[in-house]
Amino acid sequence: MGYFRPAIEAMTGYIPGEQPKPGTNIIKLNTNENPYPPSPKALEVLRSLDSEWLRRYPDPFAKEFCQAVSEVLGVPADWVLVGNGSDDVLNVLVRACAEGADRSVVYPMPTYVLYRTLAAMQPADVVEVPYGEEFQLPIEALVAAKGAITFIATPNSPSGHCVPLEDLRTLAQQVAGIVAIDEAYVDFAESSALPLLQEFENVILLRTLSKGYSLAGLRMGFALANPKLLTGLFKVKDSYNIDAIATAIGTAAMRDQSYKNACAEKVKRSRTQLSTDLKNLGFTVLPSHGNFVLATPPDGRAEFLQQALKQRGILLRYFKQPGLDDKLRITVGTDAQNQILIEAIVSLLNS
Ligand SMILES: *Cc1c(COP(=O)(O)O)cnc(C)c1O
Repeated sequence: MGYFRPAIEAMTGYIPGEQPKPGTNIIKLNTNENPYPPSPKALEVLRSLDSEWLRRYPDPFAKEFCQAVSEVLGVPADWVLVGNGSDDVLNVLVRACAEGADRSVVYPMPTYVLYRTLAAMQPADVVEVPYGEEFQLPIEALVAAKGAITFIATPNSPSGHCVPLEDLRTLAQQVAGIVAIDEAYVDFAESSALPLLQEFENVILLRTLSKGYSLAGLRMGFALANPKLLTGLFKVKDSYNIDAIATAIGTAAMRDQSYKNACAEKVKRSRTQLSTDLKNLGFTVLPSHGNFVLATPPDGRAEFLQQALKQRGILLRYFKQPGLDDKLRITVGTDAQNQILIEAIVSLLNS
């Protein structure tokens, strides 16, 4: 007998974007971190840490954080489930709801690769439905696939497009299973699917503090859903999946909406500028509602550019897969970082 279950033997592990050592002099535009520091209020909590928080087990439900979410988003506190990053919540959701052919995982493509990885581990069958030419949601095919979970990331990565609320509503009406709406990038978008929570018991929203709140290293994410949908997930999650420090810092960050919104506004302005600059260099750039853009370099020399820029200390994300292998996903940095990127591209394209 081998060490691993057949499903684990057969699967490919998720490959995260490169994470260079902190302090390395690198412009890191490959994993959609926020270029601005976390809220000063969150940092204040970090500096005032009490050792007692470490000695004792944390609150298994991070209730203090749920309360903050409740006040900020106007959702009851018992509609919130907190995770060690939203990846943890995604993991719990797949563990609790998907299995085999009868309880499959369905999503439009291209999208976040982790959905496939989590399904492969379970294992649960996967149905991948291509997006339309202009990223229209393929509602009919998604419904026909009858997933136990249908994942929709909006704004989507790597495309950056938003799925219209009406399409999400139609989907939630027509599928019997769960519609999991991954709003990792909602802080950079104009709208959210929050209104659907009250309308549909089968809708779950996933949020994270990694992108909008500049706290990717903290590992904090959460789900919003009807308590009926959350009950099964609470059985599956680790008792202490969110540590005491994350809970305290995350709560302060959640309560500081004005700081988060101000950073998001800066990112959005820079996104416009970066898109314009790239287009002026002959790139095709998709309109984006996230803190990144998906751009096709002239002559499709995406892999060359990614490699050459890496040698110059600038990291971008390249996906070697059909439909994406001529494109680069570029995180929006500060204006200064974006300017350095643009200058490096100019010199590479001229060489
Ligand atoms: C970044 C990202 C996540 C994961 O966020 P964490 O909270 O850091 O685990 C989830 N979904 C999408 C689409 C993302 O881009």
